[in-house]
Amino acid sequence: MNIQTVGVVGAGVMGIGVAQNLAQTGHQVILVDISENILDKAKHEIRNNIRFQSFYHKSDNTETPDSVLKRIEFSTDYKNLENTDFVIENVTEKWDIKREVYHLLDSICPADCVFAANTSAIPITRIASATKRAEKIVGIHFMNPVPMKPMVEMIRGYHTSEQTIETAKKILAQMGKECILVNDSPGFVSNRVLMLTINEAVFLLQDQVATAEDVDKIFKGCFGHKMGPLETADLIGLDTILFSIEVLYENFNDSKYRPCSLLKKMVDAGLHGRKSGKGFYVYQ
Ligand code: NAD
Repeated sequence: MNIQTVGVVGAGVMGIGVAQNLAQTGHQVILVDISENILDKAKHEIRNNIRFQSFYHKSDNTETPDSVLKRIEFSTDYKNLENTDFVIENVTEKWDIKREVYHLLDSICPADCVFAANTSAIPITRIASATKRAEKIVGIHFMNPVPMKPMVEMIRGYHTSEQTIETAKKILAQMGKECILVNDSPGFVSNRVLMLTINEAVFLLQDQVATAEDVDKIFKGCFGHKMGPLETADLIGLDTILFSIEVLYENFNDSKYRPCSLLKKMVDAGLHGRKSGKGFYVYQ
């Protein structure tokens, strides 16, 4: 199947990156979110990201923001997805929200359309259970920022067919990405480890063992990581971190995944990291 038009649902941190990456690799994109305000912000961010990319990263892609944006249709109407062959879902990491989105997608999109869930921790088999096309559901866990990251984690749900995996691999190759295929489990490989690490780093801060800067410096200076766990948390979004660790806690029923109360407090206070301007660090 040669996929030309891709639906992208959710225009937050990840949906913006996925839509931009697809449009920059020649795909037509329909980007859906719940309000015009959010979509206007998404358009503005894509424009800035492309400028930033060409300025700082000497990208080979010489297309202007306008010509990339021409390939993206911004919409609040799910009906515009009725002719798509492939949809990448990037809505808030809450099962109640995702379940409703999959019900809706299942009722609107063609029967052979593949749905790729870009989730941090929710099992793909559970997502598939919200549809009547379990064999066409696959997990694609993109990394942030999407256009800059060459690799993704792909997740095979219980019913995911080989054909669905092949279709997903093909579109990822078109986007310039390699994938590592893993079996389904809450948090998959990456976030079962990463969310626990970030949560523990927040406990260290709460216990006043070290400052945020020093926690991050230890990971960068001693282990050679490019970013420390708290900087990474700010990049991902503290709300997404909290929702993800809650998914792990509910799914494994294991107290090691209990979210740190400082993390909960920061989310309640609106300190969501880079996207809100403040998290463990302050952003302009
Ligand atoms: P975000 O909070 O930045 O964006 C979520 C978007 O979903 C918002 O724009 C919201 O308006 C939209 N949304 C909510 N309900 C909707 C609906 N019914 N229909 C359409 N849109 C709706 O979150 P994010 O960081 O972009 O994360 C999105 C998904 O990607 C989550 O499942 C998250 O776990 C996963 N993820 C996040 C990261 C990361 O680094 N942030 C990395 C990999 C995967």
